[in-house]
Amino acid sequence: MKTILTGLRVNSEPTLGNYLGAVLPMVRLANAYKADHNINIFVPDLHSIISKVDGNLKKNIFRSIKIYFAAGLEPNENVHLYRQSYVPAHSELCWILECNASMGELSRMTQYKEKSEGKASVNAGIFNYPVLMAADILLYGAEYVPVGEDQFQHLELTRNLAMRFNNKYGREIFIPPVKTEDQLKFMGVENGIRIRSLTDPERKMSKSSRAENSKIMMLDDPEVAAKKIMSATTDSVGKIQYDMFNQPGISNLLQIEALVNNIPLQDVVSTWAGETRYGDLKQKVASSVKSMLEIFQARMKEIPDETVLEYLEAGEEYANFVSKAKLLEVQNAVGLR
Ligand code: ATP
Ligand code: MG
Repeated sequence: MKTILTGLRVNSEPTLGNYLGAVLPMVRLANAYKADHNINIFVPDLHSIISKVDGNLKKNIFRSIKIYFAAGLEPNENVHLYRQSYVPAHSELCWILECNASMGELSRMTQYKEKSEGKASVNAGIFNYPVLMAADILLYGAEYVPVGEDQFQHLELTRNLAMRFNNKYGREIFIPPVKTEDQLKFMGVENGIRIRSLTDPERKMSKSSRAENSKIMMLDDPEVAAKKIMSATTDSVGKIQYDMFNQPGISNLLQIEALVNNIPLQDVVSTWAGETRYGDLKQKVASSVKSMLEIFQARMKEIPDETVLEYLEAGEEYANFVSKAKLLEVQNAVGLR
């Protein structure tokens, strides 16, 4: 069985960007493919501590799993939910891969550049985390990894590390994830999803951003979320059209409207073609986001922690079984065993 895998860092509450870019696509794929695919949804708790953790990490971990249920995940025996730090093979494989990755390629990662920009001191985890991400994927031979557009470069790195390792040891130890274009086809989208910051639409919406109005958190009071949309930065062009280059703010609102209502972007763009009043568009998007959040937040409350823990413990048993076998294969190849 092929494996589809994803994870959401739990350094803070997820944003609307995380939800639309990563959670919803994964949930749709999981529900569609779970009969004959392994669906690995893990909590990258070790990745989470590369940034400042807002709130209580343990609570954030449980909340992360509830988010998938609230988004509509219907688990079966092929759906595996687990915490990264409960599966030690991730950290162990990471080290071996580190010794096969170059400083040069890691320093070219856009996420590293963005996260270290203007900081006097940057922790080494921020530099190294793409390699841990490669380990997360390669241990399970996951070919499909639905993530937002910002993570595609790390998927390419994972492919390169896998192929380099296979070449070095002369056999197909790792299954590399499929190429970006095939990831997109599998996700059923033309381009990767990149929800923009509401205050600075040149940049992506990020949960660790300090600018509160730049991001909608999935647990924001729906009224507050609507206000953030109403005050989103736009432009002075005066036309409602999809043009990410010249009108990133307006294009972002059109994109959010499409994804929140699960309608093709093209349809939303046609509906608004010829309109000029940005306030009307904002009002519509604000109301869509508000209704979506109300439903989502009500569902979050329905899932007890005990249920989450049961899923996690079962998932960790599975993940340890699969990952230990792959790690042993790697240790044998390297000569450690
Ligand atoms: P941080 O700023 O702390 O890195 P983040 O918002 O980038 O947080 P991550 O936990 O790093 O969130 O990423 C989780 C998933 O959400 C990944 O699949 C990532 O590609 C996706 N994602 C993150 N931001 C966006 C966004 N603005 N639009 C679409 N997808 C996104
Ligand atoms: Mg990120």
